This record gives sequence, structure tokens and C-alpha cells, in this order.
Amino acid sequence: MDKCKNPNIHCTVEQCRHNLCSEHFCTLDMVEIGTHEQNPTMKECVDCDSFEKRESCC
Ligand code: SF4
Repeated sequence: MDKCKNPNIHCTVEQCRHNLCSEHFCTLDMVEIGTHEQNPTMKECVDCDSFEKRESCC
């Protein structure tokens, strides 16, 4: 299945099934961003909650 990149969402997380690895863009129309911290203070506190583990290599 060919997936189209969303040119507005650049992402280098190749382990995610939504990533178009050849170009490092997300293929979703939108993503959910969240945090696992009570009081986020740095970028490491922020997550893409739309991440889904890729089952096969890209
Ligand atoms: S869902 Fe999130 S982690 Fe996955 S490719 Fe899109 S932006 Fe990257």
C-alpha cells in the first residue's frame, strides 16, 4: 500500500508505522501530541501519541 507523506509533519522516527522512512515525513493527516509529565519543562517531556510500532522494517 502506497502511503502519501504529509509535508507539514516532518518526523524521523523510523520505528513508527506511520513514518515514510525514505523521506522522513509522517503519513497521517494529523497527529496527537501529548506529554507523560505532570509539568513538562523540556522537549524530552513531549511525545507523539499517534506513534504505533512498526512491525516490519521500512
Ligand atoms: S505518528 Fe508520530 S511518530 Fe509516527 S510518523 Fe507520525 S509524527 Fe512520527
